[in-house]
Amino acid sequence: MTDIRVMKPKVAFFDFTSCEGCQLTVLDSLQTNPELLDVVDIVEFREAMTGHADQYDIAFIEGSCTRRSDETRLASIRSRAAVVVALGSCAHIGGINAIRNKMPLEEVRNVVYGTEAHHFDTYPARPIGAVIAVDYAIPGCPINPEEFLGIVTVLLQGRSPELPDYPVCIECKLRETVCVYHLGRACLGPVTRAGCQAICPSRGYECVGCRGLISNPNLESLSQVMAEHGLSESAAKNKLDMFLSWELENRQVKEAGNG
Ligand code: SF4
Ligand code: SF4
Ligand code: SF4
Repeated sequence: MTDIRVMKPKVAFFDFTSCEGCQLTVLDSLQTNPELLDVVDIVEFREAMTGHADQYDIAFIEGSCTRRSDETRLASIRSRAAVVVALGSCAHIGGINAIRNKMPLEEVRNVVYGTEAHHFDTYPARPIGAVIAVDYAIPGCPINPEEFLGIVTVLLQGRSPELPDYPVCIECKLRETVCVYHLGRACLGPVTRAGCQAICPSRGYECVGCRGLISNPNLESLSQVMAEHGLSESAAKNKLDMFLSWELENRQVKEAGNG
């Protein structure tokens, strides 16, 4: 990476299939923390400027890979970036884009594009880490602005950011929130990566898993808890599939391979 004492690091933002909400969160963060612009040189950011560069010290990539041409573009970004960071659930874990992988592709194409479907190249959605090497991820839908700023700071210091690998339940208990299971809501906090300060349960809503799975989720126990609270098997599956379908699917493939 460029030595910050000599030259500002070149930072770029790219978007693939997404709602662009994570880039908007970055823009918000820059407005409230403009001092960041004193220490980095933003060289590409379609949502905010028209510039272009050939090399990047840090490339933040938002969105999922959903078509063959995305692979070429991702490979090109990777070849020009010292560090690649997946920005938000779509890029990190496939996010809600991967729900469509549960349906026949032709049906999805027809629902979205109707009679014009043949004009659009598309295939099952994947996180960018399934296509190129990704160095770090900033989870969430959308990302948390404080976490974004914290991770940028760590990267600029030449260190490696680390994400919590314990469940949202820990943060939820630390803030003494009443468990939403007691309010009749089924929550994915027991298997979801912490770091958001359990914001959804703190407002009376269940965690829907937007930050992805912890590395050793006890899914059997979660299914049991959801069943005990009256959730049918299909309702529990739908809940898990909202953000976690790609992770769950690929976990199963990996486990089957290991078995
Ligand atoms: S992670 Fe959420 S907010 Fe970010 S781009 Fe994807 S859908 Fe939008
Ligand atoms: S509300 Fe969710 S995150 Fe909080 S303790 Fe209950 S299950 Fe865990
Ligand atoms: S509580 Fe769950 S759904 Fe809400 S922000 Fe945190 S990880 Fe995402």
